[in-house]
Amino acid sequence: MATGRYYLCPQCKTRTWAQSLFYALQDAAYSKAHLCPSCNRDLQLELSFTFGLDAGTYEYHLVGAYLPEPPVEWNDNNGKKVEFFPFLIVLKHVQSSSKSVWLPYWHLHHIDEVPRKKYGQWAPHMDMKTFGNLIEKGRKDGHF
Ligand SMILES: [Zn+2]
Repeated sequence: MATGRYYLCPQCKTRTWAQSLFYALQDAAYSKAHLCPSCNRDLQLELSFTFGLDAGTYEYHLVGAYLPEPPVEWNDNNGKKVEFFPFLIVLKHVQSSSKSVWLPYWHLHHIDEVPRKKYGQWAPHMDMKTFGNLIEKGRKDGHF
């Protein structure tokens, strides 16, 4: 099931569907603010997950989003650029305020003018240097 994602205004409580989960997370990781058109307040990204095996649906606020620096990229055998985006996402459960970590990832394959997005369907797998870089960023924001 698709991850629910809304921009929520803390002032007027307006909720707007975020068109692309990838770009919403990328904007968060690059600290690109989304402002409420009415109140000019920073919008908060709200995510909802329906977990498998009847574990239920839960709503979270995104409180931290990180991507490694430098970015991870290479060229495929045809010389087309591939970018890897292993996100470290820190979430705060709306009801209990408990925090959790989510590690979604995408590849952008620059095969066409508009890069093709590939969402990772399996467990994230990344080298220790990349993961260590993410942990360090989260630690700086006090999440660990
Ligand atoms: Zn507002």
